[in-house]
Amino acid sequence: MALDSFSTLVDPYERRVRDLRISITDRCNFRCTYCMPEEGLKWLDRSEILSFEEIARLAMIFVERFDFDGIRLTGGEPTVRADLPVLIEKLSGLIVPSTGKPVDLSMTTNGSSLRSSAKDLLRAGLNRLNISIDSLNPRIFEAMTRRDNLEKVLDGIDAAIEVGFKPVKINIVMMRGINDHEIVDFATFGREKGVQPRFIEFMPLDADGAWTFEKVVPADEIIEKINAVYPLEPVVHGPEPAQRFRYKDGAGELGVIPSVTKPFCDNCDRVRITAEGKFMTCLFAINDFDLRKLLRSRASDEEIMSEIRAAVGTKWAGHNIGNVNFKRPPRSMSQIGG
Ligand code: SAM
Ligand code: SF4
Repeated sequence: MALDSFSTLVDPYERRVRDLRISITDRCNFRCTYCMPEEGLKWLDRSEILSFEEIARLAMIFVERFDFDGIRLTGGEPTVRADLPVLIEKLSGLIVPSTGKPVDLSMTTNGSSLRSSAKDLLRAGLNRLNISIDSLNPRIFEAMTRRDNLEKVLDGIDAAIEVGFKPVKINIVMMRGINDHEIVDFATFGREKGVQPRFIEFMPLDADGAWTFEKVVPADEIIEKINAVYPLEPVVHGPEPAQRFRYKDGAGELGVIPSVTKPFCDNCDRVRITAEGKFMTCLFAINDFDLRKLLRSRASDEEIMSEIRAAVGTKWAGHNIGNVNFKRPPRSMSQIGG
C-alpha cells in the first residue's frame, strides 16, 4: 500500500484514534460475576457473528487506510472461537502504513486453554497476551469466575511464558471485600514469575447490575499498598489507559487502570467492534454503528470508511461514571468486548 493512500482518524476533541479492540465472540466458558450473568444470557447466532473474512476486511481498513497501529482481540472468550490461529495469521500480516511495521496484535484471554493453544497463537503471529486472573486463592477465584479453574489458568500463564510471550500481563479486576486483600500477593506473584500485573478498577458493566461505587478499589490505594512493601516509581509513558510503575529494585513493572477514579478519557485513542459487527466509539457508548450491514451489502471500502469517520465524529469527551447523569450502556462487558 502506498504511503499516501492512508489518512488518520481524529475525533471532535482532537484525539487521534488508532487502537482497535475486536470482539470475536460473545461466548465464554467462565461466568465472572463482574461481567456475565450466571445463566440466561442469549448467545448470538453463528450467522450474526462476523466471519474471519469480515473481521480481516475491517482490520485491513483500520490499519492500512486509517493507520491504526494496535489491534487487540477480545470477547467473550476469544479462545473459544474455532481456528483462532487462522484469524491471527490473517491479521498479523497487516502493515501500518506510516511506519511500515506490522500492526501490534494482542489478545486478552481468561487463560484456561493456553496450555494447548499458546504455541500456535505465537506461531500465527500474536505479539502479546493479557491473561485475566482475579485471585490466587482457589475458592475466591471460583466465587469470582463461577468456575473452579484456578489451576488451569495458572498453568496457562506458565504455558504463555514457556512458549515465549514477553511480556505476559495479568489482568486483575479488584473488588472491595472480595479480592482486595490480595493486592500485595499479586505483586509478589508478578515479581516471582516475571509477569506484569494490571489492576483494573471494577466498572459498571456487569450483567447483574450489582456495581456500586463502594465496590471499586481505587488505583491510588493499590499503588500505596504495594509501594509500602515493594517501593515503586512511576514509568513515563505515552497515552495509554494504564498508569505504569516499576519496582525501584528493578524486579519488574506493574500497572493500574483507574477507569473509574481517574478516567483516561482525555487520552483515549480506542474504538471497538463487537462480535456482531457493531462499531462503538466508547465502552460506555449508548449508540453503535452497524458495520456488518455494510459488509454484507457489498459496500465499498470508501463507503465503510465514511461510516467509520461519521461514527468517530460522535466520539464523546468521556464517560460519566459516578455522576448523576451517567447512563449504563445496554450491553454488558462480554457483549461489548473488554
Ligand atoms: N474473556 C477474556 C478475559 O476475561 O480476559 C476477554 C474478555 S474480558 C471482557 C476482558 C477484560 O475485561 C478482562 O480482563 C476482564 O477481567 C475485564 N472486565 C470484565 N468485566 C469488567 C468490569 N465490569 N470492570 C472492569 N473490568 C472488567
Ligand atoms: Fe468470560 Fe472474560 Fe467475561 Fe470472565 S471477564 S465472563 S472470562 S468474557
